Amino acid sequence: MALSGMLVLLAFVQFHGLRISILSDLGSSAELIAQNASHAIVIEDDNEAQALLAALASSRNILQARLESTDGRLLALYEGEPTNWSHNLVALKVSRPVIAYGQAVGTLVLSASSQKLVSWTLVFFGVGSLAIGGAWLASWLSAARAAKAARKAQQRLAWVSRHDPLTGCANRDELRAHLRRPSADPQALSALYLVDLDGFGIINAAYGAHQGDVILRVVAQRLQTLLGAGDCLARLSADEFGITLTQGDESSFSSFARRIQAALREPIFVGDIALKPTVCIGMAVLPVDGKDEDSAIRAASAALGMARSAGKGSVCKYEEAHNRELRERADLIEALRQALGKTEFYLQYQPIYKANDQSLCGAEALLRWQHPIRGAISPERFVPLAESAGLIEEIGLKVISLLKEDRQQWLGAGLKVPPIAVNLSAMQFPGELSKARFLQQLDLLGLGPGELEIELTERAAFEDLEEQDSIVQQLKARGYTISLDDFGTGYSSLSYLHRLSCDKLKIDRSFVRRMEQNPSAQQLVKAIVEVAHAFQMQTVAEGVETPGELEALRQVGCDALQGYLLDRPLDAPTFGLRLAQVRRLPDSGLAIQAP
Ligand code: C2E
Ligand code: CA
Ligand code: CA
Repeated sequence: MALSGMLVLLAFVQFHGLRISILSDLGSSAELIAQNASHAIVIEDDNEAQALLAALASSRNILQARLESTDGRLLALYEGEPTNWSHNLVALKVSRPVIAYGQAVGTLVLSASSQKLVSWTLVFFGVGSLAIGGAWLASWLSAARAAKAARKAQQRLAWVSRHDPLTGCANRDELRAHLRRPSADPQALSALYLVDLDGFGIINAAYGAHQGDVILRVVAQRLQTLLGAGDCLARLSADEFGITLTQGDESSFSSFARRIQAALREPIFVGDIALKPTVCIGMAVLPVDGKDEDSAIRAASAALGMARSAGKGSVCKYEEAHNRELRERADLIEALRQALGKTEFYLQYQPIYKANDQSLCGAEALLRWQHPIRGAISPERFVPLAESAGLIEEIGLKVISLLKEDRQQWLGAGLKVPPIAVNLSAMQFPGELSKARFLQQLDLLGLGPGELEIELTERAAFEDLEEQDSIVQQLKARGYTISLDDFGTGYSSLSYLHRLSCDKLKIDRSFVRRMEQNPSAQQLVKAIVEVAHAFQMQTVAEGVETPGELEALRQVGCDALQGYLLDRPLDAPTFGLRLAQVRRLPDSGLAIQAP
């Protein structure tokens, strides 16, 4: 509006300026003709007067010229070109007196065409209007664009508030909203699954967070393909997903858990390494296990906890039994706490033999818990419990002090004792203090690299293994030999192990078991051994149970062997006897030398 007003004002100024300039030119022409016309008037020669005005024909702008005597008589007239509408739109007329001998003898009246004035003004107005129109259009377009961008930003914001940006799944809030949504049929069942990737921490540590993200995206995509309309997939934390299913019954809900596992069974490639992630799944059925979202999530979480403690790749459905199991866990943790102050723990030692000359080259210390009422409790049961209850640090310290006592006995009997491997849990070292306490205790007990070796399970979340101040690097710096336990069950790549500068690799029992029947398993173990050797790592095979396995392991060049075939875990006095003995390997006819 303001621009339009401005345009009108400018057009008026332009018009006025042009008009003055035209009138001034017209005045000059009239002046000239008037000066020359005096002679024709004085001698009353109309022809001369007419000829004088005819000279105006060269000026296309002149519409009319009139030469009149002082009494108003027309002496000569010139008419210009026929006019169009704009010629006479504005009056452009000047008159000049014709003077002879100091006396006015007539008047010359010149009228000019206003075409130029009108058309210039119109052009100015048109161009101005176009400019204003353009500016208005541009501002309208940019306002429309800004409004569209604002709308998009708003939509994006609304999306982000309900979704996980990494995988595009819903987030926790959205899943809760789903669970709150009332069902059309109040009798209908729905299910909630919590899906937890096993050992994701170690994937991130081994391959980097970027590859970890890639794996999460693939997992999310595969889960998404299982869902129907009205179902919801959400990412709840780094490696935990939640799924709600709205249609089904108890049996279809159970089979859905198996479909989840099957969907993830296909390998995921990280570079040229194929990973087959497994998941633990906790499942709750609504409204049976939980009527509202909170109780449903609590039930599914409890079921997931159970699945986790049952081991990798487990599925658990929430049932009342879980509550009983939880009570049982709590009782056992309490018993564990009390046992730490008593003498219920002891160590067994499973010898490890060199594959080439069959000499006993070491042993693994395995912790035992003998409860006065419950009997023997497996470390596979109580170690995870101790980890979850924050008791594992104390247990770790207990192990090295028990080892010290047993060593004293053997040394007292004059035996030469090889280094003994102890198992460390990642949870044993929650902070700097716990690391310092452990190292200090080793010093205090005089257990140096010649007395003790370290085993770390591959599946444990030793996420900061590569960090300079990690317990592994600190032990390494003090010269302790580090073995990576259960190799093949986690996600470590051999180059990662090399970066960690592990000294030994313990090939998991599951590989050893398959070697006899399956030539490709044998090839795989052979490849592991070769690569380990290329990285200057020694290999120890775990769980050797048959002579066939022993032979196969020898053939592929494995350095050392451990398993029931050679020796079961032995109590300290029996292990002392082994140290003193020379014995024979079953079926091999080869002598085993004590160190
Ligand atoms: P692991 O470190 O893999 O220990 C080897 C396990 O395999 C032991 O079970 C051993 O008895 C068993 N084993 C040895 N040879 C054979 C065989 O030929 N066949 C079969 N089927 N099994 C064999 P164990 O003693 O029940 O220990 C289980 C796990 O508990 C250990 O697995 C280790 O992860 C953990 N553990 C044991 N002691 C300790 C400890 O002092 N501290 C920590 N943090 N964990 C421990
Ligand atoms: Ca071990
Ligand atoms: Ca092992």
